[in-house]
Amino acid sequence: MKNLSLLFLLLLGISCNPRPPGSKDGTIVSPPVIHMDGGLIKPKNIILMIGDGMGITQITAGMYMNGNKLNLEKFPVIGLHKCHASSGLITDSAAAATSFASGIKTYNGAIGVNSDTISIKTILEEAEENNLATGMVATSTIVHATPASFIAHEKRRNLYENIAADFLDTEIDFFVGGGKKYFDRRESDERNLVEELREKNYVISDYFSEELGEVFISSKKNFGYFTADADPLPVSKGRGYLYSASKMAMNHLLKRGSDKGFFLMIEGSQIDWGGHANDSEYIITEMLDFDKTIGAVYDFAEKNGETLVIVTADHETGGYSIVQGSRMDSLATKFTTGYHTADMIPVFAYGPKAGIFSGIYENTAIYDKMREAFGFRGEGREVIDGEK
Ligand code: MG
Ligand code: ZN
Repeated sequence: MKNLSLLFLLLLGISCNPRPPGSKDGTIVSPPVIHMDGGLIKPKNIILMIGDGMGITQITAGMYMNGNKLNLEKFPVIGLHKCHASSGLITDSAAAATSFASGIKTYNGAIGVNSDTISIKTILEEAEENNLATGMVATSTIVHATPASFIAHEKRRNLYENIAADFLDTEIDFFVGGGKKYFDRRESDERNLVEELREKNYVISDYFSEELGEVFISSKKNFGYFTADADPLPVSKGRGYLYSASKMAMNHLLKRGSDKGFFLMIEGSQIDWGGHANDSEYIITEMLDFDKTIGAVYDFAEKNGETLVIVTADHETGGYSIVQGSRMDSLATKFTTGYHTADMIPVFAYGPKAGIFSGIYENTAIYDKMREAFGFRGEGREVIDGEK
């Protein structure tokens, strides 16, 4: 009874508040309307941002080391996903990204294949089939586990040259990342995939020929750019392209997908590598680089109005924690492992259909929720060819 009257008073308090939310100068700022069932309006575009190894502590450390603020705080909807793989509680990036991309739990090391090594169509491939534009930006090689799981189908994550060849099987409109050598100086065959891509209507360039910002990108062509021969540098050693490449990707895909929309995956790949190295400084610099990019994506979505943005991680790395002796802007940290942990992982969403990302669910539900938001028909998870 007591609880009920308290609830009543609370409700009364909310409904009687006569002032709409507004800024000091009197202009009315209406907050985004969040329908927890997602509402009726579907997004045209989806941008999935993955901070590899970005658990709650990685986010917290970035925030306290950045004057107690992050762009992530703007996101109105928050959920949690369970990241375990089919092969065990501790997932790797390949199994986890395959869960996002294809909606299945699979074994560690699997790239776009299920536990029986059968290829399952990815959301990027399905978007292509539905005539949407597609893109990926990563701060690892573009054939590394996370991006690979959206475009390739291979038994093992380290089959980098096979994964590179799988890029020829889609019409991906935009990609930026490292790993040039897997395309044009291959050990397993004589193919030059850069030339093959150029024959397929791609403009392909790289860090060696020109700066990314100097490349002219025609909206009539697909675009690929290699930021390194193998792995790109950490932010602390001079890498800085995630922000600008992500902006280029959004603008390019907006033109390429003009009436249908686009799907874009952006990965802050090296937060994970900081965790493996048990290096707090590495984690924080990579986290803040990713958050700066989150700010640019949020601004784009706010202006565009038809874009759903989802920010999450595949898993946590390092068993990272902030301990006694920490102050704002000066953290004492500890690690419990050099590998990944099984912690649940936060999901942040903004834009049309953002409401459906609230709650606790399996990582595979991110696939279903993205398909629901796009309005793709059926259950998905389509088998696309035989055993790998
Ligand atoms: Mg990754
Ligand atoms: Zn890792």
